[in-house]
Amino acid sequence: MKSPLYLDHNATAPLRPEAREAMLTYLGDRDANPSSLYLEAEQVRADLEDARSRMAAALGVRRGELYFTSGATESINWAVRGVVAAQSEKRRLLTTVVEHSATLDVASRLEEEGVDVTLLRVDREGRLDLDELKASLGDDVALLSIMWTNNETGVEFDIPTVAALCREAGVLIHVDAAQKVGRGMPSLADLPVDLLSFSAHKFGGPKGTGGLVVRRGVGLRPLIWGSRHEGGRRGGTENVAGIMGMAAALEESVARWPEEGPRIQALRDRLQHHLTQALPDLIINGAEECRNENTLSVACPGIEGHGVVLTLSQKGLACASGSACTAHDDGPSHVLAAMGVDGHCIHGALRFSLGEGLQEDDIDHAAELI
Ligand code: PLP
Repeated sequence: MKSPLYLDHNATAPLRPEAREAMLTYLGDRDANPSSLYLEAEQVRADLEDARSRMAAALGVRRGELYFTSGATESINWAVRGVVAAQSEKRRLLTTVVEHSATLDVASRLEEEGVDVTLLRVDREGRLDLDELKASLGDDVALLSIMWTNNETGVEFDIPTVAALCREAGVLIHVDAAQKVGRGMPSLADLPVDLLSFSAHKFGGPKGTGGLVVRRGVGLRPLIWGSRHEGGRRGGTENVAGIMGMAAALEESVARWPEEGPRIQALRDRLQHHLTQALPDLIINGAEECRNENTLSVACPGIEGHGVVLTLSQKGLACASGSACTAHDDGPSHVLAAMGVDGHCIHGALRFSLGEGLQEDDIDHAAELI
């Protein structure tokens, strides 16, 4: 990462040295196709399955419940489309207004194809209304697709409670955990989550690699048809180097989080303190008690977020005005709009997302620049 002060970890985290190291072996010395029959291929296949086992253990699922994909966007498309297609008698999809565009766009396409889509609302702090959720969990619902951590505000939904409600109502649940895997996600061993999506680059693995957890017995139609890769459920030769890097990054993230999580949170709070002291009009987006450790989303009336991001970039600080995926859109953030943040404040939205490697001096310097 070139920028001296990088506060955009929700867009992507810098590649971990352990991930880079793990990948290099497979970018030259071990480049056999894992589906081939000869000895070199057998070795690569064994390494791939070893990576799957190690990742499954880190997530708290069985080896056979983890499928490799190109990242969270593919996994979300697969989970949502695949579950809806597999349950032809249930024609309703539940999701929330604050989901990532990967989910909202698939939901719109499905709606065009005749699926009923219900968007659950959030309050001014970004919290889900559990009563509205309970009332929406009917027999006609094929799936609830819901994010764990919001990429723009850091607000976390109470997934253990939501998953328990779904299980009670007999509704399948898919969790978009792109911002949660490798950042203190509890083991899935005791959680009734049916499907879960993630991307490696959010926890220091390479871009273009990720996974979908599909619990045993969940009916799911393939999204990508082809050969018999991934147990015949996802066609295409595996991104071996990427997967090896992803496995190394996940193990490293999980091992470091107990120490790094609270440290990063203290740095985030330090930044928030500096900014609220200096800018009394500043609005903090998202309830204090349900925000994750690394994200600070603010709105400043009367400024133009995009312009501030570009100016800060020239001064050597990387941050965002919304999510990276919508950074080139002109419209206001759909997340902040759904929370009821005022129009003139939404345009002054800035997101700072922290990660490993940052120190108190960096935060003090960032606050000065801002
Ligand atoms: N879901 C969430 C919550 C995200 O933050 C992102 C990426 O920003 C995605 C899904 C999509 O991830 P990718 O672009 O790696 O496919």
